[in-house]
Amino acid sequence: MAATPGITYEILALRYGTFDGRMQFQNFMIPDDHAAPDPLDFYIFAIRGNGRTIVMDTGFNLESAKRRGRAVMRTPAQALLDAGIDPTEVKDVILTHMHWDHAGGMEYFPKAMFHIQAAEMSYCTGPCMCEPFLRRPFDVEDVQSAIAALYADRMKVHEGTVEVAPGITLHLIGGHSGGIQAIRVPTARGWVMLAGDASHLWRNIRRRNPFPVVVNVERMLKGFDIINGLADGEDHVIPGHDPLILKRFPPLNGNPEIVRLDLPPIA
Ligand SMILES: [Zn+2]
Ligand SMILES: [Zn+2]
Repeated sequence: MAATPGITYEILALRYGTFDGRMQFQNFMIPDDHAAPDPLDFYIFAIRGNGRTIVMDTGFNLESAKRRGRAVMRTPAQALLDAGIDPTEVKDVILTHMHWDHAGGMEYFPKAMFHIQAAEMSYCTGPCMCEPFLRRPFDVEDVQSAIAALYADRMKVHEGTVEVAPGITLHLIGGHSGGIQAIRVPTARGWVMLAGDASHLWRNIRRRNPFPVVVNVERMLKGFDIINGLADGEDHVIPGHDPLILKRFPPLNGNPEIVRLDLPPIA
């Protein structure tokens, strides 16, 4: 499927943190080698073009990162500034889901409208949060920020597929969280799917080996099909936390921490 003629966007992946201490059993339900090192990187994604800048997720805040032992290279806000994007001027931020490392930086975007799925808002404020195991990936301060944004007319709550800018659509996936969504973006190389945590690593979706932080495994697996079906090929699916992203795509202005996902892979 070709992208809408004339409407294409640039997509950036900007790394701001990393977690070296991760092991394979923490990333795959069926690990090959249980205790093998399997690091995760933390990215913020940005979509630019046609007079718009849309940011996907807000990253984590320094307090949560410290508490959870993640290494911060720079704040997500600084990562955006390094690419020439002023977060205080960004008008639209897509919250894929409310986990601490995605919704922890809402304050970096004082003028933004946030976009979330109704299923995610219900999930992170609903009865499942009575279960300590299920609320572990959430920080209550982030959920409070989301509710504050909702009451301040700064939250658009979507139900399923919606177009948020010409050609850019949000898709309800579920599985990893109650209402996680993915983003489809037309680029010069075709339709790219920003999977976010619907597939943390390429190996999750390509080997159909689910990530163990999961609410509903069946929906996570069905989500792989939705994502693959909306992308123009395997290389058009971008996982949420894969360290290979920086190696596989060309850097922006020679900065090795920021890569262009709208250009063909280099490796
Ligand atoms: Zn998550
Ligand atoms: Zn995540």
